[in-house]
Amino acid sequence: MEKKLRRESVCVQAGWTPKKGEPRVLPIYQSTTFKYDNSEQMARLFDLEDTGYFYTRLQNPTNDAVAAKIAELEGGVGAMLTSSGQAANFYAVFNICQAGDHFVTSNTIYGGTYNLFGVTMKKLGIECTFVDPEWDDKRIEAAFRPNTKCFFGETISNPGGHVFDIERFARMAHKHGVPLIVDNTFATPINCRPFEWGADIVTHSTTKYMDGHATSVGGAIVDSGNFDWNAHADKFPGLCQPDESYHGLTYADAFGKMAYITKATAQLMRDLGSIQSPQNAFLLNLGLETLHLRMRQHCANAQAVAEYLEQNERVAWVNYCGLKSNKYYELGQKYLPNGSCGVIAFGLKGTKEDAIRFMDSLKMICIVTHVADARTCVLHPASHTHRQLSDEQLREAGVAPDLIRLSVGIENVEDIIEDIQQALDASK
Ligand SMILES: *Cc1c(COP(=O)(O)O)cnc(C)c1O
Repeated sequence: MEKKLRRESVCVQAGWTPKKGEPRVLPIYQSTTFKYDNSEQMARLFDLEDTGYFYTRLQNPTNDAVAAKIAELEGGVGAMLTSSGQAANFYAVFNICQAGDHFVTSNTIYGGTYNLFGVTMKKLGIECTFVDPEWDDKRIEAAFRPNTKCFFGETISNPGGHVFDIERFARMAHKHGVPLIVDNTFATPINCRPFEWGADIVTHSTTKYMDGHATSVGGAIVDSGNFDWNAHADKFPGLCQPDESYHGLTYADAFGKMAYITKATAQLMRDLGSIQSPQNAFLLNLGLETLHLRMRQHCANAQAVAEYLEQNERVAWVNYCGLKSNKYYELGQKYLPNGSCGVIAFGLKGTKEDAIRFMDSLKMICIVTHVADARTCVLHPASHTHRQLSDEQLREAGVAPDLIRLSVGIENVEDIIEDIQQALDASK
Protein backbone atom coordinates (compact mmCIF):
# COMPACT_ATOMS: atom_id res chain seq x y z
CA MET A 1 0.00 0.00 0.00
CA GLU A 2 1.12 3.49 -0.79
CA LYS A 3 2.27 5.57 2.16
CA LYS A 4 -0.39 7.99 3.36
CA LEU A 5 0.89 11.54 3.37
CA ARG A 6 0.16 13.99 6.16
CA ARG A 7 -2.24 16.88 5.56
CA GLU A 8 0.47 19.45 4.82
CA SER A 9 2.06 17.16 2.24
CA VAL A 10 -1.33 16.40 0.71
CA CYS A 11 -1.83 20.15 0.17
CA VAL A 12 1.39 20.30 -1.81
CA GLN A 13 1.59 16.90 -3.50
CA ALA A 14 -1.82 15.27 -3.96
CA GLY A 15 -4.06 15.19 -7.00
CA TRP A 16 -1.59 15.46 -9.85
CA THR A 17 1.03 12.72 -10.14
CA PRO A 18 2.87 13.19 -13.43
CA LYS A 19 4.28 10.23 -15.29
CA LYS A 20 7.57 10.20 -17.17
CA GLY A 21 8.04 13.33 -19.24
CA GLU A 22 4.76 14.94 -18.15
CA PRO A 23 4.58 18.49 -16.73
CA ARG A 24 5.56 18.71 -13.07
CA VAL A 25 2.83 21.28 -12.47
CA LEU A 26 -0.85 20.46 -12.95
CA PRO A 27 -1.69 21.52 -16.52
CA ILE A 28 -4.83 23.45 -17.42
CA TYR A 29 -6.73 21.14 -19.74
CA GLN A 30 -8.41 23.99 -21.57
CA SER A 31 -10.40 21.67 -23.79
CA THR A 32 -14.10 21.05 -23.94
CA THR A 33 -13.66 17.64 -25.48
CA PHE A 34 -11.39 14.57 -25.67
CA LYS A 35 -10.43 12.31 -28.52
CA TYR A 36 -11.21 8.58 -28.96
CA ASP A 37 -10.23 6.08 -31.61
CA ASN A 38 -13.62 4.64 -32.44
CA SER A 39 -17.33 4.94 -31.84
CA GLU A 40 -17.50 1.92 -29.53
CA GLN A 41 -15.05 3.49 -27.06
CA MET A 42 -17.16 6.62 -26.90
CA ALA A 43 -20.41 4.68 -26.46
CA ARG A 44 -19.02 2.83 -23.44
CA LEU A 45 -18.27 6.16 -21.76
CA PHE A 46 -21.85 7.32 -22.24
CA ASP A 47 -23.12 4.12 -20.62
CA LEU A 48 -20.78 4.67 -17.63
CA GLU A 49 -19.19 1.32 -18.50
CA ASP A 50 -15.77 2.89 -18.93
CA THR A 51 -14.24 5.83 -17.18
CA GLY A 52 -12.66 8.52 -19.26
CA TYR A 53 -13.05 12.08 -20.34
CA PHE A 54 -15.39 13.07 -23.12
CA TYR A 55 -16.88 16.46 -22.33
CA THR A 56 -15.72 19.00 -19.74
CA ARG A 57 -19.24 19.61 -18.39
CA LEU A 58 -19.04 16.06 -17.00
CA GLN A 59 -15.37 15.75 -16.17
CA ASN A 60 -12.08 17.46 -16.89
CA PRO A 61 -8.59 16.25 -15.89
CA THR A 62 -7.57 19.56 -14.26
CA ASN A 63 -10.75 19.67 -12.21
CA ASP A 64 -10.47 16.00 -11.29
CA ALA A 65 -6.92 16.40 -9.99
CA VAL A 66 -7.99 19.27 -7.76
CA ALA A 67 -11.13 17.42 -6.63
CA ALA A 68 -8.94 14.40 -5.77
CA LYS A 69 -6.70 16.61 -3.62
CA ILE A 70 -9.70 18.02 -1.75
CA ALA A 71 -11.14 14.52 -1.28
CA GLU A 72 -7.84 13.34 0.17
CA LEU A 73 -7.59 16.38 2.46
CA GLU A 74 -11.06 15.66 3.85
CA GLY A 75 -10.48 11.90 4.00
CA GLY A 76 -13.35 11.19 1.57
CA VAL A 77 -13.71 8.70 -1.28
CA GLY A 78 -14.43 11.25 -4.00
CA ALA A 79 -15.19 14.88 -4.72
CA MET A 80 -16.69 17.09 -7.39
CA LEU A 81 -15.87 20.72 -8.09
CA THR A 82 -18.67 23.18 -8.76
CA SER A 83 -18.80 26.72 -10.12
CA SER A 84 -19.49 28.20 -6.68
CA GLY A 85 -20.18 27.36 -3.06
CA GLN A 86 -23.85 28.07 -3.72
CA ALA A 87 -23.89 25.41 -6.44
CA ALA A 88 -22.11 22.98 -4.11
CA ASN A 89 -24.70 23.34 -1.35
CA PHE A 90 -27.59 23.20 -3.81
CA TYR A 91 -26.28 20.02 -5.47
CA ALA A 92 -25.37 18.43 -2.15
CA VAL A 93 -29.00 18.63 -1.01
CA PHE A 94 -30.69 18.26 -4.41
CA ASN A 95 -28.74 15.04 -5.04
CA ILE A 96 -30.92 13.33 -2.41
CA CYS A 97 -34.03 15.54 -2.24
CA GLN A 98 -36.79 15.96 -4.79
CA ALA A 99 -40.15 17.75 -4.87
CA GLY A 100 -42.18 16.66 -1.85
CA ASP A 101 -39.10 16.02 0.28
CA HIS A 102 -37.94 17.88 3.36
CA PHE A 103 -34.67 18.49 5.19
CA VAL A 104 -33.53 19.99 8.47
CA THR A 105 -30.89 22.69 8.67
CA SER A 106 -29.13 24.65 11.35
CA ASN A 107 -30.28 28.27 11.25
CA THR A 108 -26.77 29.61 11.86
CA ILE A 109 -25.60 29.38 8.26
CA TYR A 110 -24.35 31.67 5.52
CA GLY A 111 -26.99 34.16 4.29
CA GLY A 112 -26.83 32.90 0.70
CA THR A 113 -27.44 29.34 1.84
CA TYR A 114 -30.29 30.52 4.07
CA ASN A 115 -32.02 32.05 1.05
CA LEU A 116 -31.29 29.09 -1.19
CA PHE A 117 -32.83 26.69 1.32
CA GLY A 118 -35.67 28.84 2.63
CA VAL A 119 -36.85 30.52 -0.56
CA THR A 120 -35.50 29.07 -3.81
CA MET A 121 -35.58 25.36 -2.99
CA LYS A 122 -39.08 25.81 -1.63
CA LYS A 123 -40.10 26.85 -5.15
CA LEU A 124 -38.81 23.46 -6.33
CA GLY A 125 -41.11 21.78 -3.81
CA ILE A 126 -38.34 20.99 -1.31
CA GLU A 127 -39.09 22.28 2.16
CA CYS A 128 -36.71 22.76 5.03
CA THR A 129 -37.03 23.42 8.73
CA PHE A 130 -34.52 25.76 10.37
CA VAL A 131 -33.48 24.67 13.84
CA ASP A 132 -31.35 26.41 16.42
CA PRO A 133 -28.37 24.16 17.21
CA GLU A 134 -28.60 25.31 20.82
CA TRP A 135 -32.01 23.72 21.27
CA ASP A 136 -32.06 20.43 23.17
CA ASP A 137 -32.15 17.13 21.25
CA LYS A 138 -35.85 16.64 21.73
CA ARG A 139 -36.77 19.98 20.22
CA ILE A 140 -34.42 19.51 17.26
CA GLU A 141 -35.58 15.94 16.62
CA ALA A 142 -39.17 17.17 16.52
CA ALA A 143 -38.25 18.81 13.19
CA PHE A 144 -37.64 15.43 11.51
CA ARG A 145 -40.50 14.09 9.38
CA PRO A 146 -41.00 10.82 7.51
CA ASN A 147 -39.96 12.63 4.28
CA THR A 148 -36.83 14.25 5.81
CA LYS A 149 -33.73 13.44 3.72
CA CYS A 150 -30.77 15.16 5.38
CA PHE A 151 -29.49 17.44 8.12
CA PHE A 152 -27.29 20.44 7.24
CA GLY A 153 -24.93 22.70 9.23
CA GLU A 154 -21.68 24.73 9.03
CA THR A 155 -18.59 23.72 11.04
CA ILE A 156 -18.00 27.39 11.87
CA SER A 157 -20.91 29.57 10.83
CA ASN A 158 -20.49 32.53 8.52
CA PRO A 159 -20.64 35.23 9.83
CA GLY A 160 -21.52 34.48 13.48
CA GLY A 161 -18.66 32.11 14.26
CA HIS A 162 -20.87 29.50 15.97
CA VAL A 163 -19.19 26.09 16.26
CA PHE A 164 -21.37 23.17 15.13
CA ASP A 165 -21.38 20.12 17.39
CA ILE A 166 -20.82 17.72 14.48
CA GLU A 167 -20.76 14.52 16.53
CA ARG A 168 -24.05 15.35 18.22
CA PHE A 169 -25.84 16.22 14.98
CA ALA A 170 -24.41 13.22 13.12
CA ARG A 171 -25.86 11.01 15.83
CA MET A 172 -29.24 12.71 15.48
CA ALA A 173 -29.24 12.52 11.67
CA HIS A 174 -28.29 8.84 11.70
CA LYS A 175 -30.96 8.03 14.27
CA HIS A 176 -33.46 9.32 11.70
CA GLY A 177 -31.82 7.42 8.83
CA VAL A 178 -30.43 10.43 6.98
CA PRO A 179 -26.93 11.79 6.25
CA LEU A 180 -25.34 14.84 7.85
CA ILE A 181 -24.06 17.41 5.36
CA VAL A 182 -21.48 19.85 6.74
CA ASP A 183 -20.29 23.03 5.03
CA ASN A 184 -16.65 23.08 6.11
CA THR A 185 -15.69 26.31 4.34
CA PHE A 186 -14.37 28.28 7.31
CA ALA A 187 -12.52 25.52 9.15
CA THR A 188 -11.06 23.88 6.02
CA PRO A 189 -9.78 20.30 6.34
CA ILE A 190 -6.59 21.73 7.83
CA ASN A 191 -8.41 22.57 11.05
CA CYS A 192 -11.35 20.14 11.05
CA ARG A 193 -12.29 17.02 9.15
CA PRO A 194 -16.03 16.54 9.70
CA PHE A 195 -15.94 12.91 8.48
CA GLU A 196 -13.88 12.01 11.55
CA TRP A 197 -16.86 13.12 13.66
CA GLY A 198 -19.55 11.29 11.71
CA ALA A 199 -20.52 13.74 8.95
CA ASP A 200 -21.35 11.98 5.66
CA ILE A 201 -21.01 14.73 3.06
CA VAL A 202 -18.84 17.85 3.19
CA THR A 203 -19.26 20.96 1.08
CA HIS A 204 -17.01 23.94 0.46
CA SER A 205 -17.07 27.39 -0.96
CA THR A 206 -13.54 27.08 -2.35
CA THR A 207 -13.80 30.83 -3.00
CA LYS A 208 -12.69 31.37 0.59
CA TYR A 209 -9.56 29.96 2.29
CA MET A 210 -8.95 27.18 -0.23
CA ASP A 211 -8.38 29.69 -3.03
CA GLY A 212 -7.32 32.17 -0.37
CA HIS A 213 -6.33 34.97 -2.75
CA ALA A 214 -9.80 36.11 -3.87
CA THR A 215 -9.19 35.14 -7.50
CA SER A 216 -11.93 32.58 -8.28
CA VAL A 217 -15.44 31.71 -7.18
CA GLY A 218 -15.78 27.95 -6.77
CA GLY A 219 -17.17 25.11 -4.71
CA ALA A 220 -16.71 21.44 -3.91
CA ILE A 221 -18.68 18.48 -2.60
CA VAL A 222 -16.87 15.62 -0.89
CA ASP A 223 -18.38 12.19 -0.22
CA SER A 224 -17.18 10.20 2.81
CA GLY A 225 -18.54 7.02 1.23
CA ASN A 226 -19.81 6.08 4.70
CA PHE A 227 -23.56 6.50 4.39
CA ASP A 228 -25.37 3.23 3.68
CA TRP A 229 -27.99 4.35 1.14
CA ASN A 230 -29.36 0.86 0.61
CA ALA A 231 -30.07 0.54 4.35
CA HIS A 232 -32.62 3.36 3.83
CA ALA A 233 -33.51 2.55 0.23
CA ASP A 234 -37.11 3.76 0.58
CA LYS A 235 -35.86 7.25 1.49
CA PHE A 236 -33.38 7.55 -1.38
CA PRO A 237 -34.99 6.34 -4.60
CA GLY A 238 -32.61 8.51 -6.64
CA LEU A 239 -29.69 6.40 -5.44
CA CYS A 240 -31.36 3.06 -4.83
CA GLN A 241 -33.72 2.78 -7.79
CA PRO A 242 -32.84 2.67 -11.50
CA ASP A 243 -32.00 5.97 -13.22
CA GLU A 244 -34.04 6.19 -16.41
CA SER A 245 -31.53 8.62 -17.87
CA TYR A 246 -28.77 5.99 -17.58
CA HIS A 247 -30.55 2.96 -19.02
CA GLY A 248 -31.84 1.88 -15.64
CA LEU A 249 -28.53 1.90 -13.81
CA THR A 250 -28.81 1.98 -9.98
CA TYR A 251 -26.08 4.14 -8.42
CA ALA A 252 -25.96 2.46 -4.99
CA ASP A 253 -25.52 -0.96 -6.61
CA ALA A 254 -23.21 0.04 -9.45
CA PHE A 255 -20.90 2.38 -7.51
CA GLY A 256 -21.11 1.35 -3.82
CA LYS A 257 -19.23 3.88 -1.69
CA MET A 258 -18.98 6.22 -4.68
CA ALA A 259 -22.74 6.22 -5.37
CA TYR A 260 -23.57 9.70 -4.09
CA ILE A 261 -20.69 11.54 -5.74
CA THR A 262 -21.08 9.58 -8.99
CA LYS A 263 -24.75 10.53 -9.19
CA ALA A 264 -23.88 14.17 -8.48
CA THR A 265 -21.43 14.17 -11.38
CA ALA A 266 -23.14 11.88 -13.87
CA GLN A 267 -26.65 13.18 -13.38
CA LEU A 268 -26.78 16.61 -11.70
CA MET A 269 -23.71 18.11 -13.35
CA ARG A 270 -24.70 16.63 -16.69
CA ASP A 271 -28.15 18.21 -16.46
CA LEU A 272 -27.53 21.44 -14.54
CA GLY A 273 -23.99 22.17 -15.69
CA SER A 274 -22.53 24.42 -12.98
CA ILE A 275 -18.94 23.35 -13.61
CA GLN A 276 -15.84 25.04 -12.35
CA SER A 277 -13.70 26.24 -15.25
CA PRO A 278 -10.36 24.38 -15.52
CA GLN A 279 -8.64 27.77 -15.35
CA ASN A 280 -10.23 28.44 -11.96
CA ALA A 281 -9.44 24.92 -10.78
CA PHE A 282 -5.79 25.57 -11.63
CA LEU A 283 -5.81 28.73 -9.50
CA LEU A 284 -7.61 26.87 -6.73
CA ASN A 285 -4.85 24.27 -6.77
CA LEU A 286 -2.21 26.97 -6.30
CA GLY A 287 -4.16 28.16 -3.28
CA LEU A 288 -4.42 24.65 -1.87
CA GLU A 289 -0.64 24.22 -2.07
CA THR A 290 -0.21 26.79 0.74
CA LEU A 291 -3.49 26.27 2.60
CA HIS A 292 -1.79 24.70 5.63
CA LEU A 293 0.66 27.61 5.97
CA ARG A 294 -1.95 30.29 5.49
CA MET A 295 -4.46 28.75 7.92
CA ARG A 296 -1.80 28.70 10.63
CA GLN A 297 -1.10 32.41 10.12
CA HIS A 298 -4.79 33.37 9.80
CA CYS A 299 -5.49 31.65 13.14
CA ALA A 300 -2.49 33.11 14.97
CA ASN A 301 -3.29 36.62 13.74
CA ALA A 302 -7.01 36.29 14.50
CA GLN A 303 -6.29 35.06 18.00
CA ALA A 304 -4.13 38.14 18.69
CA VAL A 305 -6.70 40.50 17.15
CA ALA A 306 -9.57 38.86 19.10
CA GLU A 307 -7.62 39.26 22.36
CA TYR A 308 -6.89 42.89 21.48
CA LEU A 309 -10.57 43.59 20.72
CA GLU A 310 -11.76 41.83 23.86
CA GLN A 311 -9.81 44.16 26.13
CA ASN A 312 -10.70 47.32 24.19
CA GLU A 313 -13.23 49.50 25.98
CA ARG A 314 -14.96 50.57 22.73
CA VAL A 315 -15.81 46.95 21.95
CA ALA A 316 -19.16 45.66 23.24
CA TRP A 317 -18.64 41.98 22.47
CA VAL A 318 -16.38 39.59 20.51
CA ASN A 319 -17.21 36.15 19.20
CA TYR A 320 -14.13 34.06 18.42
CA CYS A 321 -14.00 30.51 19.68
CA GLY A 322 -10.28 30.80 20.47
CA LEU A 323 -11.11 33.16 23.36
CA LYS A 324 -11.34 31.37 26.70
CA SER A 325 -14.36 33.52 27.62
CA ASN A 326 -16.23 32.45 24.48
CA LYS A 327 -19.28 30.23 24.72
CA TYR A 328 -17.92 28.08 21.88
CA TYR A 329 -14.49 27.69 23.46
CA GLU A 330 -15.14 24.09 24.60
CA LEU A 331 -16.58 23.00 21.25
CA GLY A 332 -13.69 24.78 19.54
CA GLN A 333 -11.17 22.85 21.64
CA LYS A 334 -12.90 19.62 20.67
CA TYR A 335 -13.34 20.15 16.92
CA LEU A 336 -10.68 22.77 16.16
CA PRO A 337 -7.79 22.11 18.55
CA ASN A 338 -5.19 23.62 16.22
CA GLY A 339 -7.14 26.80 15.49
CA SER A 340 -10.48 27.67 13.94
CA CYS A 341 -10.24 30.32 11.22
CA GLY A 342 -9.40 33.99 10.71
CA VAL A 343 -12.93 35.32 10.98
CA ILE A 344 -13.97 37.28 14.05
CA ALA A 345 -17.45 38.65 14.74
CA PHE A 346 -17.67 41.63 17.05
CA GLY A 347 -19.80 44.62 17.93
CA LEU A 348 -18.89 48.14 18.99
CA LYS A 349 -20.58 50.07 21.76
CA GLY A 350 -22.89 52.68 20.29
CA THR A 351 -25.12 52.74 17.26
CA LYS A 352 -25.02 51.10 13.84
CA GLU A 353 -23.67 54.45 12.56
CA ASP A 354 -20.69 54.13 14.92
CA ALA A 355 -19.92 50.77 13.38
CA ILE A 356 -20.11 52.21 9.86
CA ARG A 357 -17.89 55.17 10.85
CA PHE A 358 -15.32 52.76 12.28
CA MET A 359 -15.29 50.68 9.13
CA ASP A 360 -15.01 53.75 6.91
CA SER A 361 -11.98 54.91 8.95
CA LEU A 362 -9.94 51.77 8.30
CA LYS A 363 -6.97 52.32 5.98
CA MET A 364 -5.17 49.05 5.17
CA ILE A 365 -8.22 46.92 5.94
CA CYS A 366 -10.78 47.20 3.13
CA ILE A 367 -14.55 46.90 3.12
CA VAL A 368 -15.24 44.13 0.63
CA THR A 369 -17.94 41.53 0.05
CA HIS A 370 -15.55 38.74 0.71
CA VAL A 371 -14.08 36.79 3.56
CA ALA A 372 -11.30 34.32 4.24
CA ASP A 373 -8.76 36.04 2.05
CA ALA A 374 -5.02 36.70 2.51
CA ARG A 375 -5.88 40.42 2.86
CA THR A 376 -7.63 41.52 6.03
CA CYS A 377 -11.13 42.74 5.19
CA VAL A 378 -14.28 43.79 6.94
CA LEU A 379 -18.01 43.72 6.31
CA HIS A 380 -21.25 44.67 8.07
CA PRO A 381 -23.54 41.71 7.25
CA ALA A 382 -26.78 43.43 8.30
CA SER A 383 -26.24 46.12 5.66
CA HIS A 384 -24.36 43.98 3.11
CA THR A 385 -24.48 40.16 2.67
CA HIS A 386 -27.56 39.63 4.83
CA ARG A 387 -29.54 42.75 3.91
CA GLN A 388 -32.31 40.69 2.33
CA LEU A 389 -33.09 39.05 5.68
CA SER A 390 -35.64 40.56 8.05
CA ASP A 391 -34.56 41.54 11.58
CA GLU A 392 -36.12 38.37 12.89
CA GLN A 393 -34.34 36.23 10.30
CA LEU A 394 -31.10 38.03 11.15
CA ARG A 395 -31.51 37.15 14.80
CA GLU A 396 -32.39 33.58 13.86
CA ALA A 397 -29.29 33.31 11.70
CA GLY A 398 -27.20 34.50 14.64
CA VAL A 399 -26.40 37.82 12.98
CA ALA A 400 -26.75 40.74 15.41
CA PRO A 401 -27.56 44.07 13.71
CA ASP A 402 -24.31 45.52 15.10
CA LEU A 403 -22.18 42.52 14.05
CA ILE A 404 -18.98 43.46 12.23
CA ARG A 405 -17.33 40.58 10.41
CA LEU A 406 -13.57 40.99 10.46
CA SER A 407 -11.69 38.55 8.27
CA VAL A 408 -8.14 38.60 9.56
CA GLY A 409 -5.55 38.09 6.86
CA ILE A 410 -1.91 37.04 6.87
CA GLU A 411 -0.24 40.45 7.04
CA ASN A 412 1.94 41.34 10.04
CA VAL A 413 -0.54 41.29 12.90
CA GLU A 414 0.81 44.54 14.36
CA ASP A 415 -0.19 46.39 11.20
CA ILE A 416 -3.69 44.92 11.47
CA ILE A 417 -4.08 45.93 15.11
CA GLU A 418 -2.65 49.41 14.49
CA ASP A 419 -5.14 49.98 11.68
CA ILE A 420 -8.03 48.93 13.93
CA GLN A 421 -6.70 51.15 16.72
CA GLN A 422 -6.43 54.25 14.52
CA ALA A 423 -9.93 53.63 13.10
CA LEU A 424 -11.35 53.33 16.59
CA ASP A 425 -9.61 56.59 17.54
CA ALA A 426 -10.73 58.35 14.37
CA SER A 427 -14.37 57.26 14.76
CA LYS A 428 -14.78 58.28 18.44
C1 LIG B 1 -19.35 32.07 0.75
C2 LIG B 1 -19.98 30.90 1.34
C3 LIG B 1 -20.87 30.10 0.59
C4 LIG B 1 -21.25 30.44 -0.83
O1 LIG B 1 -20.13 30.28 -1.63
P1 LIG B 1 -19.88 31.07 -3.03
O2 LIG B 1 -18.60 30.50 -3.48
O3 LIG B 1 -19.83 32.53 -2.71
O4 LIG B 1 -21.02 30.73 -3.91
C5 LIG B 1 -21.41 28.99 1.20
N1 LIG B 1 -21.11 28.66 2.47
C6 LIG B 1 -20.27 29.41 3.22
C7 LIG B 1 -19.98 29.01 4.61
C8 LIG B 1 -19.68 30.55 2.69
O5 LIG B 1 -18.84 31.27 3.44
